[in-house]
Amino acid sequence: MAVEKTFSIIKPDAVGKNLIGKILQKFEDNDLQIVASKMIHMSKEKAEGFYGIHKDKPFFANLIEFITSGPVIVQVLQGENAIMKNREIMGATNPDDAKEGTIRKSFASSIDENAVHGSDAPETAAVEIAYFFNNDEICERTR
Ligand code: GDP
Repeated sequence: MAVEKTFSIIKPDAVGKNLIGKILQKFEDNDLQIVASKMIHMSKEKAEGFYGIHKDKPFFANLIEFITSGPVIVQVLQGENAIMKNREIMGATNPDDAKEGTIRKSFASSIDENAVHGSDAPETAAVEIAYFFNNDEICERTR
């Protein structure tokens, strides 16, 4: 298996509930390293660009309102099979369908406010990382 980088967001609901540390702990407990991280409050334009693939969906306006409703933590996670591993740690999009022990099962309240985002494939991971981070903000581990 290859070492990969993936993009992750701790969404406004989870930041608002003071769950940043608990969520980062889940990544580290599963051998994912945080190699970039910052807190931002996304503008409407930034959010619409990020979620552009969903622009024709009925939930789009809701999604933009939610993701811009408060600050988020954006991060780059690195590790073996990081993209799929992060999706497993996150759990299903709808927390009602998420497995026990996943972030969404533990911390999300609904499909609209579901605590975290994670890239779903190598192509989207590369695009999403570049959408939020410059190369010099990604810190390769040296020890
Ligand atoms: P994710 O990769 O699991 O976050 O899911 P998607 O990329 O497909 O969707 C992005 C976000 O849009 C999800 O995290 C949900 O918050 C929201 N979303 C996706 N599908 C639905 C839906 O059918 N209804 C509602 N209300 N929100 C949805």
